[in-house]
Amino acid sequence: MTNTASPARHFAGDRLVIASHNKGKIPEIAALLEGRVARLTSAAEHDVPEPEETGDTFIANAELKARFVAEATGLPSLADDSGVSVTGLGGDPGIYSARWAEKPPSESNGGSGRDFAYAMEQVRLKLGDTPDRSARFVCALSLCWPDGHCETVEGEIRGQLVWPARGTKGFGYDPIFVPDGHDRTFGEMESAEKHAMSHRADAFRKLVARCFES
Ligand code: IMP
Repeated sequence: MTNTASPARHFAGDRLVIASHNKGKIPEIAALLEGRVARLTSAAEHDVPEPEETGDTFIANAELKARFVAEATGLPSLADDSGVSVTGLGGDPGIYSARWAEKPPSESNGGSGRDFAYAMEQVRLKLGDTPDRSARFVCALSLCWPDGHCETVEGEIRGQLVWPARGTKGFGYDPIFVPDGHDRTFGEMESAEKHAMSHRADAFRKLVARCFES
């Protein structure tokens, strides 16, 4: 249940499982929750596989991942789902942001993995001459308990897309995203500067206010 209007359930336990197999995300989430959870583990440590992301929104996907891991482990679980939504593309790539980085077999060199230079070029080509270059990064965070209750929030940061891509820091679509009020891309910013304003930071602030502060 997404539950943002009614009183929130407070997180009172000392154990939380991060419903992610992304090794980069575990320390990032641990840092954001520092001092609030005594024992953080990852789904992989519990031998819980990743469920298929069958939802059609960031919130639905975050909830289904957190719910799946909470049920499998019997412990509260936290999941995130994020991506970039481009206004001129009707919100695409959105929940398919990672998938847009997978080249079709005919164009790939046989290797697996994602190519974000390719993904950013797909966005540029699809936008064509569209003058509206606005976009937003979105991050949904869902905290679910084994009884099925979920607290879910969504964070965002708005900005403009630019080409050519600039900067080598960050990941994904960072080199083409200039947050509103700034003139450098996320790819040109130090991680601390990006993390202070990002969609993930916004979502965490909302979740902490809702579930981790008395
Ligand atoms: P995930 O589902 O949270 O792993 O992220 C999906 C995809 O969204 C990532 O592979 C990136 O392409 C994109 N994405 C999410 N957050 C960011 C960000 O902060 N910068 C750049 N790309 C991002």
